[in-house]
Formats: sequence, structure tokens, C-alpha cells
Amino acid sequence: MSENRIACPRCGVDWLVRVRLVALKCHAVLCRECLALWLDEENLGQDNWVEYRPYMIAHGVADPGDPREILFGEDVRRRHLRSVPKPIDK
Ligand SMILES: [Zn+2]
Repeated sequence: MSENRIACPRCGVDWLVRVRLVALKCHAVLCRECLALWLDEENLGQDNWVEYRPYMIAHGVADPGDPREILFGEDVRRRHLRSVPKPIDK
């Protein structure tokens, strides 16, 4: 089923994964290779990402590298895109 995974539109190196930004209390999509962050899972484009670290710092997170600031969920798959995202918290 891995063919349904989505490669990063920015760097093309890694697969996109769902994350929860703990301090911001929201979900987003991240490339673990280049740390591009998409806030809208329905719109994963080449030009609408933000840089993870500056984005977190701009929102008051002192240490974006702290593993407690980000929870990794499942890989983003194409069949998910038209459905309501499931919570990644277990
Ligand atoms: Zn990337």
C-alpha cells in the first residue's frame, strides 16, 4: 500500500507524515527530511508550506527541536485526502 503514500512536494525525498503540534494544539503534515510543514492537509502544494522551526518559534515555542513538541502520526495516504482526518492521538 506504500504507493498511496505521498512524497514531499518540496524535496521529494521523504514521505509526508501527519503530526500534532503539541504547543499549538493542532494537526499538520510534515516532511521529516526537509521539515516543510503544511497546515492544511487538503492542500499539499509546492509553494504553500512553511518551515517547521521558524513557524514554531513564531508561535512561541522556544525549542522546536524538543521531541515533546511534536507527535508523529501515520503517513499521509491519498485515500485520506477527501475524508475527515482522524485524530492521531491514541
Ligand atoms: Zn521534504
